[in-house]
Amino acid sequence: MFETTHTTSTPVVASAPVCAGLNIRAKKLYPIFLCTALALAHQLAEAFEWKLVTIHEREYLSAEQVAEFYQLGQKTSIGPTRLLTDGKREIQITADHQTIAINGVKHWLSFPVLEHDGLAMVSRVDLSRTIEPLLRPSSIKSCKTFDTVVLDPGHGGMDNGAQSRWTPDEKTLSLDVAQRSKPLLEAAGFKVVMTRNRDVFVPLEERARIATLIPNSVMVSIHFNSGDRSALGVESYALSPRGTPSSSSRRLSYTDYEQLPGHATDSNNILLASSLQRRMAMARGADNENRGVKRARFVVLKDSGSPSALIECGFVSNSQDAKKISTTAFRQSLATAIRDGVLDYRAQLSGAPESATIFAMAARKDSENPVIPLDHEAIAKPIVDTTPPIFKRRVDLLPPVHLPAEAKISSPADTNKTHPAPAPFRPDY
Ligand SMILES: [Zn+2]
Repeated sequence: MFETTHTTSTPVVASAPVCAGLNIRAKKLYPIFLCTALALAHQLAEAFEWKLVTIHEREYLSAEQVAEFYQLGQKTSIGPTRLLTDGKREIQITADHQTIAINGVKHWLSFPVLEHDGLAMVSRVDLSRTIEPLLRPSSIKSCKTFDTVVLDPGHGGMDNGAQSRWTPDEKTLSLDVAQRSKPLLEAAGFKVVMTRNRDVFVPLEERARIATLIPNSVMVSIHFNSGDRSALGVESYALSPRGTPSSSSRRLSYTDYEQLPGHATDSNNILLASSLQRRMAMARGADNENRGVKRARFVVLKDSGSPSALIECGFVSNSQDAKKISTTAFRQSLATAIRDGVLDYRAQLSGAPESATIFAMAARKDSENPVIPLDHEAIAKPIVDTTPPIFKRRVDLLPPVHLPAEAKISSPADTNKTHPAPAPFRPDY
């Protein structure tokens, strides 16, 4: 195993002096203390150095450093799992696994967590594209506000979607859930646009175009799953970050380095998917029905210019799931979960101070046993990188340090502007 270690400071641009304009002669000490504290925090933030370890040509950071940076001071080992928390936010991380739990929601990382010198190591791109936006959502700079929700019922017309002997076709189910969600979202104050409101075929590119053309919007694409008869539960998808494989792939290929329109809202995408997954999992109840947040390059995700997530609301191919899906009560609870997930997303973006606490607590049903059980499916398999070295360019930055005042933070969009022609059309979703 070839490895190197180097350090890097977080890309912080110095802000204007925070003490300017204070009247010392006012003999009020509070502003002085505040000023000093902010200046110290600024210095500490600038001093933070990430120790990067390069393993197999990929950069990793230890879970210990992640805990230090995010001030997750309580560190506990429960079996092979490390629990890092500050009492409000938490990460559960396990070496040699591809999933990580963040604030109680399972997320599929782009690359497995590795063990190195006894430490659990997480890849740099997973830190910047998954952990950072979920632990510090109020630091997300793009698309801070929105007033419209684009609901995208999957399939329609000649495209039936998944079919089963127990349920209506997927196209009918997805439209039903969207139609149930619409009045709930409108009552919550949002405008709602449907990519289809009847049984009609709408091309995937057109759905993404609708989301792109509607200003101040987010898109929720609604689907139901089909697969092995034993597979059940809910899962959500956000666009795969540039330079990473999709969750269903064991290979990293040339097309994974393509810069896509959806990458402009990477941080929003994962926050939206995670918020929806949390609420859907809560609606389902049982832990084994929470399949987590995954990554994919579905057309509706990659071509959308608005923050977007795709949800899979259960398996029509599983008799247990199909029984639930067939009831109006369950589909209504899915509609409620969509509304609540969108509201949670907005609350976290705006930095509602109570949101992180509420989410961490809500995710724990049993405070005695907070660790999400390991699941066999999540055990890491090696990812084969078939990309020629010439196409490998840095695709991520470390999280910028959060400063309370007017700090300027360099853009996370370290994009490859000279990347060659787009990949050929791939008809997935
Ligand atoms: Zn579908």
